[in-house]
Amino acid sequence: MIESQKKVRVRFAPSPTGYLHIGGLRTALYNFLFARQNSGVFALRIEDTDQKRFVQGAVENLINALRQMGLSWDEGIYINKQETKNNNQKIQNSTTYDGIVEAGNFGPYVQSERLELYKKYAEQLVADGKAYYCFCEPTRLEEMREQQQKEKLPPMYDRFCLATLSSEEINKKLEAKCPAVIRLKVPKDETIEFEDLVRGKVSFVTSTIDDQVLLKSDGFPTYHLANVVDDHLMEITHVIRGEEWLPSTPKHILLYQAFGWEQPLFAHIPLLLNADKSKLSKRQGDVAVEDYLKKGYLKEALINFVAMLGWNPGEGSVQEIFSLEELIQKFDLKKVHKAGAVFDLKKLDWINAQYLKKMSVDELYVAAKTFFEEKEFFKTWNMKHGAWSVKEKDEYLKKVLTIEQDRLANLSQVGDENEFFFKDIVCEKQLLYWKEMTAEQLKDSLQKSHTILSQTTEQQWTRELIEQHLLAAAGNNRGDLLWPLRASLTGVQKSPSPFDCAWVLGKKETLNRIENALNGI
Ligand code: GLU
Repeated sequence: MIESQKKVRVRFAPSPTGYLHIGGLRTALYNFLFARQNSGVFALRIEDTDQKRFVQGAVENLINALRQMGLSWDEGIYINKQETKNNNQKIQNSTTYDGIVEAGNFGPYVQSERLELYKKYAEQLVADGKAYYCFCEPTRLEEMREQQQKEKLPPMYDRFCLATLSSEEINKKLEAKCPAVIRLKVPKDETIEFEDLVRGKVSFVTSTIDDQVLLKSDGFPTYHLANVVDDHLMEITHVIRGEEWLPSTPKHILLYQAFGWEQPLFAHIPLLLNADKSKLSKRQGDVAVEDYLKKGYLKEALINFVAMLGWNPGEGSVQEIFSLEELIQKFDLKKVHKAGAVFDLKKLDWINAQYLKKMSVDELYVAAKTFFEEKEFFKTWNMKHGAWSVKEKDEYLKKVLTIEQDRLANLSQVGDENEFFFKDIVCEKQLLYWKEMTAEQLKDSLQKSHTILSQTTEQQWTRELIEQHLLAAAGNNRGDLLWPLRASLTGVQKSPSPFDCAWVLGKKETLNRIENALNGI
């Protein structure tokens, strides 16, 4: 809990670029956890003022991905009225996005629906002498930049309009509808200092900060203006966001100061890195949450993994598996690391495997079914077994999963290591031989397995009894009996034990495969 008089209010404010980035999921998760820990409010706002980046369906995608991950929020945008939190909230349809509902008393929660507000606040800054109109044309700005480059100076607006235009001239230009932007008058030679909840004391000198554009000539705000106006009006107390926004923060603080508003607390969470320490990017692998779901990572595992990208409970704790409930209890913003967090797929595989192991076979089957259905070997098997009832097929797949459960890193791997459960096998003769055994010995061995398994009744066809019967017959030379049997059932060098394979295949198919092997010797 943090000691604060004010009710904690946080937000996740993605730009709808098409999908939920894994880093976005982490930002959303940390905000969610922080809000829940502090009985605060978590809002979902859409920052869509960069119209060039607009992607059809992106807002729905974002909402769906967050919901799929089990996150919930208290106000902002929703797909369904039913999902909004309480009846005291104002509810309205989004005017920008069909089928999107906005709920809460601080709306609209879509920035492109708040343009009038941004304009009003930008003009207020002009009236207060904190910002100014700039009518410079792109060609002039371009030349200025080239000159600065030549002189090895940082690219900064030279305040031409501020220095040369009288208020009459400005008004005339505005009346004549000359294209204009509004720029912040960034005070020179000041130091902006703030205490970041993750990074500690951070300071910037204003001499490196350009007189940034707040309102563009098309009437749209820039990210900085919209972000600050919204965080203020939505009474956001803590801004928890990715470190890539750290360089924007002094600009935001300057805006809070210019408006005379109290600034929120900031927490910049570490960058996500590839194994080679470069910034996590699409080029090096998947970055969309839905890609991981499609590959058969469980939402609980993804949440667990993402929570630990930049945080762990510390103090000698070795716990690595956390449910969402446990994360709400244990997550601590103060323990978030400063250093970049390496996105380690092996770790994700390990965490996912832990979750898969904990599932009942029935649960695993529900989760894995669609992954089977996509496999070619499954499609062929399914057609070939047209006479089987749905129940028989379900039972068969559950047996396969029982055997595979402890080895799966994700659900898209189902069946991959054990295609012989689904295919007719052709066992190479050589593979059947255990060490130096002769053809006669091989035949005897397979014949022995066949006899034992023929005498094992359908009722006795369990993993335990199959194993018991075979081991009892194998005596000390287990390889002599078990290797040829396993090879005859699977046709491959490596596979689960012959007991498990026989159990899955069933009595009839097991005996068939042994007979086929015998016939081939
Ligand atoms: N719209 C920004 C983004 O897409 C939000 C940055 C912030 O949280 O201030 O990540």
